Amino acid sequence: MAAWKDNIRRVVPYVPGEQPKEPDIIKLNTNENPYGPTPRIKGISDDPDMLRLYPDPSISLLVDELARYHGVDSSQIFVGVGSDDVLAMSFMTFFNSDKPILFPDVTYSFYDVWADLFRIPYERPLLDDSFRLVKEDYYKDNGGIVFPNPNAPTGIYEPIETIEDIVKNNQDSIVIIDEAYIDFGGESALPLINKYDNLVIVRTFSKSRSMAGLRIGYAISNPELIKALNDVKYSYNSYTMNRPSIIMGAESVKDEEYFRNTINMVIKTREEFVEAVGALGFSCLPSATNFVFAKHEFIPAKDIFLAAKEAKIYVRYFDSPRINNYLRISIGTDEEMTTFVNFLKEFVSSYNKDSLN
Ligand SMILES: *Cc1c(COP(=O)(O)O)cnc(C)c1O
Repeated sequence: MAAWKDNIRRVVPYVPGEQPKEPDIIKLNTNENPYGPTPRIKGISDDPDMLRLYPDPSISLLVDELARYHGVDSSQIFVGVGSDDVLAMSFMTFFNSDKPILFPDVTYSFYDVWADLFRIPYERPLLDDSFRLVKEDYYKDNGGIVFPNPNAPTGIYEPIETIEDIVKNNQDSIVIIDEAYIDFGGESALPLINKYDNLVIVRTFSKSRSMAGLRIGYAISNPELIKALNDVKYSYNSYTMNRPSIIMGAESVKDEEYFRNTINMVIKTREEFVEAVGALGFSCLPSATNFVFAKHEFIPAKDIFLAAKEAKIYVRYFDSPRINNYLRISIGTDEEMTTFVNFLKEFVSSYNKDSLN
């Protein structure tokens, strides 16, 4: 066997949700926002210079807009190509110790992939039986901490006091809070960056700003940690973000009204959906996100997942311990959710009949 075979960096990759090519499907499997981005972005990519010229490597238009929006200095914002890029950069930059980093057993399934890719040791404290974080599990020697709040795929939000306790008890390591869904409910840990120098907040435009296709994510922290992130970025690829994304991202941040309205629409639909499927025997974990994590009282999640797919409705199913009887259902438009509820009504009642036969 050729020696180079031993020298390849081999990893087991992250498996994203399906992006089916068929038309006329209802897509509730990757937490996209059904409403689309602010109408203010229209026409931006028509300018030929938009694609002809290199983008600004410092992404300052968007950085400045985000700094204004959050009331921080521009030196406290790092922008990347989706929060996956920001998180990968953060793992590379901040988790550089021989001690294990800590993240929950049930969480965003990219964390262990990056840890493996960058050869970072890790431990995964168990969430409790209600999928709640046990903060004391994070009060031990570690090489860093990362988790989403609200968590994915459970949708559960942990109170800000829990987050502060974890940050406070870990001042010798960096704590990254992945706030991909924070706009749909819950209080952000952002103000804590003024109190603790070991905290990094990560956000994305993919969910609440309905721009998953543009790939924009960012980190907010103190200038020292943001500089460390930028130093790694400039050592790797300096023109990360394309010009249309920079300008469209800034337009989205300016349109607060559209942003708030569409978020409120998603939240309203979520609450109605939870109630409607409750009547069909589903229980949903309390969600502070644009998805719900639901299980049925007797029908296996996998059966529902496969039947829904057959009916061209895509939801997410994870064949992993502890969560393999749940479905993660992204909140679409009212019309899409009604179609799905009607499908479930039909499916549950025929399932009842089948099991009686
Ligand atoms: C969706 C998601 C991300 C990644 O979002 P990007 O599209 O890469 O910005 C990161 N973390 C969590 C928990 C997510 O659900």
